[in-house]
Order: sequence, then structure tokens, then C-alpha cells
Amino acid sequence: MILNKYDEKTVEEIAACYRRILELVGEDPSREGLLKTPVRAAKAIMDITRGYREDPEGIVRSAIFEHSGSQVVTVKDIEFYSVCEHHILPFFGRISIGYVPDGHIVGLSKLARIVDVYAHRLQVQERLTGEICSLLTRTLTSKGVIVVCQAGHLCMKMRGVEKQDSTTVTMDFSGAFADDASLRREFLDSLR
Ligand SMILES: [Zn+2]
Repeated sequence: MILNKYDEKTVEEIAACYRRILELVGEDPSREGLLKTPVRAAKAIMDITRGYREDPEGIVRSAIFEHSGSQVVTVKDIEFYSVCEHHILPFFGRISIGYVPDGHIVGLSKLARIVDVYAHRLQVQERLTGEICSLLTRTLTSKGVIVVCQAGHLCMKMRGVEKQDSTTVTMDFSGAFADDASLRREFLDSLR
């Protein structure tokens, strides 16, 4: 578990904002059940956005190893929880990453870590997918990278159009996955 780096002053300032929000929606922030809510909510939002204070590039660079094979490496179904930047409501799902090594590989757990870093920022699913792909493309010597993300968005499920079962799929790729449609298809088939 990654410890949150935030100071008491920031938490207190955010808590004051939440206290005001509670009043504005018609609640009484001084009633017993809500007394500690602003501070708890402030700590929660700091945790949800901790990815701004982490360095995904450093995480990848800390675990690169030499490797002579060139078969696709796939890590499937990395669970993530993120927050949409339009409504500050959760969206969550799974991300699968593949790459073709070119002399190096990255420690597998680091792929899950960088998903976590980018997911813990205000996001749109398209950018979350693209940021992971472009980070790996530029920090890992590979012949190509592919990232597929499937998610459900609470801003669609509990407000607005209220589509309970909709899933959004986004994809980004580089190098060999961009040049070679059959390699891309092979990867997508392997996710089924
Ligand atoms: Zn939204």
C-alpha cells in the first residue's frame, strides 16, 4: 500500500470546502453522523488523486531487465478505479497491456503500478489508455505497445442517461501493433 503524502493544512482546507458543499445540498454538517465526514472526504479525495504526486516513469525505469526473446508479453485484466474529470465520479474496470520486447522487459508488477498511478488522477478513459501506452512506448525499448481498457462509468449509470449496463472500450497502440493488424488481432483474441 502506498502511503499518502499530504499535509494537515491541505486536508483542513479541502474539509472546509466539503463542509460548505454539505450545507449547500441541504445537510447539516454539525449533526453527529456528518461531523467527521468533511475530513474523511478530504483524505479520500487526496488518496484518489495521489497519482499526481507519483512518478510513473521512475517506476518503469526502476525495473527494466535485459531479455533476448521477442514474444508478446501480455498482462491481462489489471483492475483499476479512477475518477472522471467531468463529474468527479468513479469509473472503473480492467486494463490489459501487451508489448513486444526489444532487448528489455519490465517487471510485471510495474505495469500494474503505472495503471494505478494514472488511474489515481482525474481522467477521461481515452487519456488514461493513451498515457499508459505512450509512457511504455517511450521508457521501454520495445517493438510496440498495446493497451486496451474496458470500464463502466458511474456518471452514465447513476446520473444523466442512466445506462446501467454500458461498457466503454478504449484502445491505444504503437510500433508493431500499429503497423501489423494481424499482431493486433492476435492480441485482442488472446484477451477473450
Ligand atoms: Zn463523467
